[in-house]
Amino acid sequence: MVSRVDSVLENGNGGGLLPWQSDEWAQLQQMLPRLPHALLIHGARGTGKTAFAERFAQALLCERPAAGGHPCNACPSCTWFAQYSHPDYRRVRPEVLDEDEGGADGDEAEASEVKKPGRAGRAPSKDIRIDQVRALGDFINMSTHRQGRRVILLYPADALNTASANSLLKMLEEPPPATVFLLVADSLDRLLPTILSRCRKFVMGSPRREQALQWLQAAGVADADALLAEQGGAPLAAQEMAHSELRAPIDEFLVHLATPDTEGALKTAERLAKIPLAPLVACLQRWLYDLFSLKISGRIRYYPQHEKQLAALVARCDVAGLARGMKAITDRRAIADHPLSARLFIEDMLLEYAALFAGQRRSK
Ligand SMILES: [Zn+2]
Repeated sequence: MVSRVDSVLENGNGGGLLPWQSDEWAQLQQMLPRLPHALLIHGARGTGKTAFAERFAQALLCERPAAGGHPCNACPSCTWFAQYSHPDYRRVRPEVLDEDEGGADGDEAEASEVKKPGRAGRAPSKDIRIDQVRALGDFINMSTHRQGRRVILLYPADALNTASANSLLKMLEEPPPATVFLLVADSLDRLLPTILSRCRKFVMGSPRREQALQWLQAAGVADADALLAEQGGAPLAAQEMAHSELRAPIDEFLVHLATPDTEGALKTAERLAKIPLAPLVACLQRWLYDLFSLKISGRIRYYPQHEKQLAALVARCDVAGLARGMKAITDRRAIADHPLSARLFIEDMLLEYAALFAGQRRSK
């Protein structure tokens, strides 16, 4: 159903669709005549949902949509959109994403946005704050400037705190005419049920493995296979990781995980204390998942290239211990943002991990 023109549009510019998003795009086109006023786009992290939603927002405002409903990238609306200055468009996201372009969903093409400085003297917020949502009040009550439609893109929706979610809820309950809210979320678990009930849910599937691999290889990512597995099949997350400064420290961390011992734990903690903790915790979480999965079902999901090391470790620990370790690391993840001391946090985490293998003698 996708024409040649469409595929040129999809692949011919930076803001195009990713190869695994064509079906979902077509579905949205079919919904256009009766588009709900609030759409909640959700699916696995790192698969390009936000860029997809942004493109849809642009298409909704485009004055001369191309075949397949794609934005023309040439009309005044598209030009303003690209500069983030369209008068009928608002993007709402946590301040921290302004500092850290290319974050959450691995998005690109945001360099043109005017940077909004964080409030003086404090770290940029990870929440979507209530004043950001309240500011939409004026926007949705003004008349529109161009086509009579206004669009609000809000992501990640799970960054709404209780206050800002309740403020948004009021707008969703009494939607102004010709206003479309596009919310994007990795998971629905952390959203208020009242928000969920006011949005039409739109699920984005994950790409097939071959599709994701092909895309990564075309993007010049070396070691695409291992990175894709590590990131749970999410190609944008894999691409981000390939170019991340975290790659080398994470690899060092993995070497330690494969050969856990007390002395190594202390050294590793000292060396890695300067890098963000969340990726380390996530790495250990995936590693433990693999150990557990290998133990009970013989399967490895995230680190197949470390099969030998994982198998050696599995022989030295028991299921109950692994289950406890997984529970402990989940709890740790919740506090990784605010440790008193990064070094002590890692030390503690690695000593606890090493203890999983201390109870049983190495089988010869
Ligand atoms: Zn246009």
